[in-house]
Amino acid sequence: MSTARKNAVQTVVNREVVPPRIAGTKVSDYYASNVFNDSAMREFLSEDAYKAVKGAIKAGTKISREIADAVAAGMKSWAMKKGATSYTHWFQPLTGLTAEKHDMFFMPKGDGAVEVFSGDALVQQEPDASSFPSGGIRATFEARGYTAWDPGSPAFIMEIGDGKTLCIPTIFISYTGESLDYKAPLLKSSHFLEQAALPVVNMFDKEATRVVATLGWEQEYFLIDEALFYQRQDLMFAGRTVVGAAPQKGQQFEDHYFGSIPERVYAYMLDFETECHKLGIPVRTRHNEVAPAQFECAPMFEEVNVAVDHNSLLMDLMERIARRHKLRVLLHEKPFAGINGSGKHNNWSMSTDTGTNLLSPGKTPKNNLLFLTFFVNVIKAVNEYSDLLRASIASANNDHRLGANEAPPAIISVFTGSYMSDVLNEIEKRVSKGKYDEQSNANLKLDIHNKIPDVMLDNTDRNRTSPFAFTGNKFEFRAVGSSANCALPMTIMNAIVGKQLLDFKAEVDKLVKGGEVKEGAIMRVLRQYITDSKRVLFEGDGYSDAWEKEAKKRGLSNVKTTPYALDFYNSKKAKEVLVSTGIYTDRELEARVEILHHSYTLKIDAEARILADIATNQIMPAALTYMNNLLLNIKGLKEAGVAASSSKAQKEIVTEIALRVNAIKTAVDKMSVATDKAHHAKSTSDASKAYCDKVIPLFGEIRSNVDALESIIDDNIWPMPKYREMLFIR
Ligand code: ADP
Ligand code: MG
Repeated sequence: MSTARKNAVQTVVNREVVPPRIAGTKVSDYYASNVFNDSAMREFLSEDAYKAVKGAIKAGTKISREIADAVAAGMKSWAMKKGATSYTHWFQPLTGLTAEKHDMFFMPKGDGAVEVFSGDALVQQEPDASSFPSGGIRATFEARGYTAWDPGSPAFIMEIGDGKTLCIPTIFISYTGESLDYKAPLLKSSHFLEQAALPVVNMFDKEATRVVATLGWEQEYFLIDEALFYQRQDLMFAGRTVVGAAPQKGQQFEDHYFGSIPERVYAYMLDFETECHKLGIPVRTRHNEVAPAQFECAPMFEEVNVAVDHNSLLMDLMERIARRHKLRVLLHEKPFAGINGSGKHNNWSMSTDTGTNLLSPGKTPKNNLLFLTFFVNVIKAVNEYSDLLRASIASANNDHRLGANEAPPAIISVFTGSYMSDVLNEIEKRVSKGKYDEQSNANLKLDIHNKIPDVMLDNTDRNRTSPFAFTGNKFEFRAVGSSANCALPMTIMNAIVGKQLLDFKAEVDKLVKGGEVKEGAIMRVLRQYITDSKRVLFEGDGYSDAWEKEAKKRGLSNVKTTPYALDFYNSKKAKEVLVSTGIYTDRELEARVEILHHSYTLKIDAEARILADIATNQIMPAALTYMNNLLLNIKGLKEAGVAASSSKAQKEIVTEIALRVNAIKTAVDKMSVATDKAHHAKSTSDASKAYCDKVIPLFGEIRSNVDALESIIDDNIWPMPKYREMLFIR
């Protein structure tokens, strides 16, 4: 082994478990201790301030300057009591990462200092926005950007080492009021969904006054040792391996899934879970995932805005705490070729303030029609806007995963389970197309109402190959990438379902106006939706070639790469559901698409450079060294008068190395030309497409040759940690 690689492996072998920092004997002792939640507000705010914040959360009412001052004062006392010395607005710009800029509470005064935190500082800040992507929004106007407090997501204290900072979740907007982040559109989409869903809920339940979308994410990730990580510049700079041959013992053994968790990993999990719990992130589940060195964690679901913030925070915590354990967490969707990628299943539903989960088949007949209404409308929405859902999860990273080993395909389809599938068929068969038929419908009602409660959670026939599956009381959007901010796919979910519910309500109202009984009208509209949505319903194996063919026949899109998936945002349909609904302005939407193309381009450009560098500076020299050793050997044999046939194998290997080295060099040169050309394309969209079509294919050419060399070159001189070392050393 190369010395560096050997040392790294040795370091890993000698690692000790880093003991987790336990915060208490039971989680309830410290759960949410770093959150300015309801009980903290009650304790630290005046009655008026408390009520105003609650009102702002509930109805989106504005908070006056005086109240803001009062809230800030209470927040400051709370934070200082916890040991915080600084504060920051915490936001999610379109880089996909979280951003913060800390300010201290203290102000010099006289001989000393005082701690101050005003309502102004709470409500609005002006971070230097110029380094965040804006897709051209800022260039044409003012370069300024503002962060504005989101009272719907509680403030919290982030502990970094001994430092403690009060973090205030905010939206991030331009001087002209356009959103520059993930949160602002998500909030708008939630509001839109609520406005659309509430009248539908009220057809069944007059008491309900609120509808919120709920999200429970399941976060998959890989862990690798820090020493090996540092030996792989591809992992360091691209988050994935751009070369590396699959190990002999791959995941085909599947002995890792739900297996016992290695102790070092377990200590790490306990540590980040503790930090999560202090921040009120309700993580409750941990286990090994399918691939070696792959794991998962999942929380109890929450209101979507808070859940998204919590996932962003979690990703940040995971990375930070991994370092304490000399580990690196890989959130990339496909860090290792030939091995399962990582996703982030987004479990999505809606619930009312009267305690009803709208996607849960209730116990009483009344609730079942409510359930069916929401269930069928979601399916219809996905059928109408499946392309937008596809676009919402598009990223350079996720392209590697969609359609690959054990991952949802790039085709969006809905799995309902055989039970619900039967129910849908029955409705279609038995509800009359014409005027409402009270008689046959009464029978149907009885049937369905008696049946649905059985569906519940014990419905075990789960289809892991579906990108969008009904799992008993929620839909699970599985195609979301592991490193993605959930806000975008959730914004799209809220938008398309909201739009669909508006259409539904209008259709039902029309029938009722025409003299139909309400229930009959609902049933008939749902029946029509079931017929309309047939093409998106699929219960079979989503990973099979047969499905690709079938989906094509059904007219479902199968767009495998990001630059082309992003085109969906430019469609008339996209505007209808994203712009007409007020979730984005035209310009905001355009800007986002621009940014997404651009970040794709940046990502592929960086990968091309990393790959060229690794191939040229690490792999080719190792190959040539080994080749020289062989040539010396051949020469030696000849000089010693040994028969020429005895150096046959050596010569063959020399020939193969020479061919492969030449192939690599040729492809690297071609890649440099292609990259340069792509870089100079007319538009960001042309550039990303050029990277996709002209540069990426060369990755494969280079990689296949490098990986072939890995299998023939002397292990002692191979410069980079191999898959077996990264994935199996614990
Ligand atoms: P799995 O799908 O892996 O078997 P579960 O069904 O228990 O696991 O839940 C997965 C995730 O779905 C969890 O985060 C859970 O909180 C979430 N979930 C459950 N009910 C809802 C709901 N009504 N809305 C959103 N998410 C939910
Ligand atoms: Mg899972």
